[in-house]
Amino acid sequence: MSSSHKSDATGASSERRPKSLLAAWSAKLFPVTPDGSTALRDYRILSSLVGLAALVALLAIPRMPVFAAPLGMMVGAAYYLIFARRERLRQKLLAAPFPDEYREILRQRVPLYLQLSDDEKRRFEGEIAVFLGEQRIYALGGLEQDDRAAQVKLTDEHRVLIAASAAILLLGRPDWRLPTDRDIVVYPTSFAEETYSMEQNAHAIGMVHAQGPILFAISAIEQSFPRRQSWLHGSGLFQSQPQFAQSHVGLHEFAHVLDFLGQQGRSTGVPVLLPPSVQREWHEQLAIERDRLIDGNSVLNPYGLKNEAELFAVSVESFFQDSARLRSHHPELYGLLSDFFNQDPAARTLSLQSVVQLRPWFALGSTPRYFA
Ligand SMILES: [Zn+2]
Repeated sequence: MSSSHKSDATGASSERRPKSLLAAWSAKLFPVTPDGSTALRDYRILSSLVGLAALVALLAIPRMPVFAAPLGMMVGAAYYLIFARRERLRQKLLAAPFPDEYREILRQRVPLYLQLSDDEKRRFEGEIAVFLGEQRIYALGGLEQDDRAAQVKLTDEHRVLIAASAAILLLGRPDWRLPTDRDIVVYPTSFAEETYSMEQNAHAIGMVHAQGPILFAISAIEQSFPRRQSWLHGSGLFQSQPQFAQSHVGLHEFAHVLDFLGQQGRSTGVPVLLPPSVQREWHEQLAIERDRLIDGNSVLNPYGLKNEAELFAVSVESFFQDSARLRSHHPELYGLLSDFFNQDPAARTLSLQSVVQLRPWFALGSTPRYFA
């Protein structure tokens, strides 16, 4: 019996292999990378077409010497070397082993990480490795500060938590790329929105400039990722404070970064990453959510009333931080965000809750029914 199973298995795996040599070669030359991204494949296809076009153009010139033919290939190769540089660097970063210290930080500080499957964990770690390899993060320095003690001592833990904020948004979208030209500047505490100084009553904890850097108060990043001991305290599973426990400055600012993409320095609350067919629906939903906030009939942070961009950012915070409540109170918004990010965080939270709620020994084996 076991040998027949074995042959079945072999048969199945040989069926999965590409059928022809051509298909095998094209899968090798134009691969979907292990993180599920097709970006490198697309660059290779485009480079081949560029090379081919250059070759055809050269051959079309009358009396072109034969040795000019390889020029087409060289043009294609040059295109690939220049334009696919970021994708090639990404593959290098993904191939490097993920540090155990970083993994421990994720276990202690990022609840979502513990809810992921092994494959998803690898994806998540990969996004963090790529982010840290591509992105400059530095502590505020070079400005006149009266209080030298107020300078940030930036640690690996801070860097990993900032990277994790971005990775949460990117987890379901292996082809999304954040811009790398925005440096991240970390302040020790809140700062003034206009002067960027840490004067008294300064209240900004994060900010994204249209063309400039991303600013974070490290104290706010710390609060966004409470330590593991406090996960079970408060009103919800992952909420350390009952009020506005959905606040997460990292998710908030990177949501703005996604919103800024391709909008010439504007953020509208309707990212261009959305398919055009959905953008109108998205606008309409934001208007509904705005009315609900005004009526006091919303679980979103009222800060979203400032404008559509902020409404989008606080919605993203709730989607990941307060997902079960958002899904039950705002199912339409939850559905749009779920399609956009290609993630269903409420489903994850529920499955973890069923793990965390310890069953008595005599109930083991019976079907658990924790949720109606
Ligand atoms: Zn904002």
